[in-house]
Amino acid sequence: MMQEETAGTRLLIVDDDPLMRGMSATTLSHAGFAVVQAEGGLQALALFEQEAFDLVLLDVMMPDLDGYQVCARIRQSAHGARVPILMLTGLNDTGSIELAYQAGATDFIAKPINWTLLSHRVRYALRASFAVESAIRGSERLQRAQKIANMGSWGIAHEGRRFTGSPELARLLRAAPHTMGNATVDAFLERVCEEDRSTVLAARTAAEQHGRSYQLSFSILRFDGERRTVFEQAVAVSDRNGRQTGVEGITQDITDRVEAAERISRLAHYDLLTGLPNRLFFGELAVPALERSRRLGTRCALMHLDMDHFKNVNDALGHAQGDAVLVEISQRLQTAIRASDLGVASRLASESVVGRVGANAFTLLLVDLGQDRDAGMVAERLLQAVAQPIRAPGGELVLSASIGVALYPRDAGDVPGLARAAEQALYAAKAAGRSQYRFFDEAMNERASVRLAREGELRRAIAEGQLRLFYQPKVDASSGAIVGAEALVRWQHPQQGLVPPAQFVPLAEESGQILALTDWVLDTACADMRQRMDAGLPAVPVSVNLASPSFAHDALPGQLAALLARHRLDAAQLVLEVTETLLMADTDRVIMRLDALRARGFHISLDDLSTGYCSLSYLKRFPVDELKIDRAFVTDAWHGGRHGAIAASIIALGREFGLRVVAEGVETADQARFLLEHGCVFQQGYLYARPMAGPQFDALLRSGLAPAGGTPGRP
Ligand code: C2E
Ligand code: CA
Ligand code: CA
Repeated sequence: MMQEETAGTRLLIVDDDPLMRGMSATTLSHAGFAVVQAEGGLQALALFEQEAFDLVLLDVMMPDLDGYQVCARIRQSAHGARVPILMLTGLNDTGSIELAYQAGATDFIAKPINWTLLSHRVRYALRASFAVESAIRGSERLQRAQKIANMGSWGIAHEGRRFTGSPELARLLRAAPHTMGNATVDAFLERVCEEDRSTVLAARTAAEQHGRSYQLSFSILRFDGERRTVFEQAVAVSDRNGRQTGVEGITQDITDRVEAAERISRLAHYDLLTGLPNRLFFGELAVPALERSRRLGTRCALMHLDMDHFKNVNDALGHAQGDAVLVEISQRLQTAIRASDLGVASRLASESVVGRVGANAFTLLLVDLGQDRDAGMVAERLLQAVAQPIRAPGGELVLSASIGVALYPRDAGDVPGLARAAEQALYAAKAAGRSQYRFFDEAMNERASVRLAREGELRRAIAEGQLRLFYQPKVDASSGAIVGAEALVRWQHPQQGLVPPAQFVPLAEESGQILALTDWVLDTACADMRQRMDAGLPAVPVSVNLASPSFAHDALPGQLAALLARHRLDAAQLVLEVTETLLMADTDRVIMRLDALRARGFHISLDDLSTGYCSLSYLKRFPVDELKIDRAFVTDAWHGGRHGAIAASIIALGREFGLRVVAEGVETADQARFLLEHGCVFQQGYLYARPMAGPQFDALLRSGLAPAGGTPGRP
């Protein structure tokens, strides 16, 4: 059906804007139509004189001759009376829609154009016009055509204002068939809903009295009480002498297609969760906004906002909760750019657009910025809006986001260019530690390609053995004895030397290489341990850091069991360090996973513990063996104050639940003493030893002596 409609169908596209005309032409020729373009009204009329078209797509605003005039003239021309004319009008511009119908337009398409729907709209108009043609061409095809198009035909004879309707019209109105044979015009008009009645009456009167044809859509009330939307076309008919004898028309029930179009449009345009425009629609909305800005010479900013570590929240709390959080965030973003005390131009509120462009990513277009740095103020405000605590099961969540900002016209001249620039700025914001915004600058272009190259390099590094595993001793601060070690990965880069994990572990996570990296770390840690034991060294347990994809991976328990078997080790020799954020995900699943691992004998350590994500009491629900106090709370713990209090409460919590507490990042004797006084004996930090290569660690174990550069912290 669709093929048959498109093949060989000739369309005339009339628009003075070369961009819009070009996009329409491209879209429709992709859909299989033969397309001819006119740059203005006069050229369109000239073309229409020369050749026949099956449909006209007509812009309203044109300098030489506007769309209404062009439409009216086409209707008066020899073969233009019935050609479908779709007019392009402004969004929700009721005035111009009415004018378009008055000029004889078949239908209208609101700007901004939804490119995905355009060819459907064109096909639909063609199908309706085909049905009309059939109806006019022969009565034997009439019924079929009417049925296909869900339409009925009717006629009004001048004498006596007699109204006759086809059986299909009766069906359409849910009226008894016999009533159609002999009804009055008024009886039919009564079915038209109140608000449309005067328009329909005016159009019919003009047709009867002045021979004007019309096309209208309006609402009717069927005899069964249901309200429907119909589309009606009517033409005046004349006898052989050219005397007008009446009006003939067709009325078509278009309710389903209106609803379908609305539904499609909703699906195609909006994100169902947040109700925000989706990526596609955001792009469409941004084009005219930017276009306006170009004409007025104002500035705009396009921002990419990405929630930091949102995957953890989602994994942990479950998707339903994660979705609720995203809805909350989307509302905050909208409020934040609407806020009146922003101190930037007032149009910002009405014309700016927020879209949801990814699972936890939003895009914002801010228009009419006074100065470039106003964008910074807005970004700051968005960050603050995100950072307000969010209520969640088990406590409050404090989230953060990163934002990349691209400026128009400084960074790019169109939406795709701005989007690319904003994305690169976003990467920079993330790389700089997240929870901040960054403006785009030229150097980022370069960094983006560097990043890509880096991913490839890392892939080879993992495969070709450029990773190294370092060990940092865990010390009993009361005796100085080494009671364990944390395995920390390094990248021995052929040119750059030893690269710290902060520079490639996040990259591994983002580029899907983290599982391979964890595999290597686990295997190496176990192999080293086996070797140490074979050499007769003390077999202190080794802690390995598990990024959340590794922890969540279904294969983990089986993989660990196989690893132990292969290296002939005991589960208690391996401590798995997981971060606190991980616990935020699907709680039940996390607890099950923790139980399963502990049942196999592995020890679990909760790393980087702070109160950033959840209250300490929330942690009670998780079956773990060890708590690690984050370095941030150790560094200035001994001054007293907030950090010290947090460290002390973590230690107390550990004692209460019989958990081992390890302080990390211990650098000074003061810190060590403070911790020891509060009952935290297990400590790790530069005071005792820096992370070191395997052979050095072996040597340290062998000597059993305190490492150089620090003395065991005996207070
Ligand atoms: P982390 O798990 O919190 O590891 C502790 C980090 O603190 C290590 O940094 C360690 O060298 C450093 N550190 C230890 N004592 C001190 C101190 O006294 N002062 C200071 N300033 N720093 C100290 P490193 O080795 O650079 O590792 C950074 C992060 O990279 C780790 O933080 C961990 O999150 C991640 N990472 C390291 N190795 C692995 C790994 O094999 N797998 C995964 N998934 N992540 C890893
Ligand atoms: Ca760790
Ligand atoms: Ca840590």
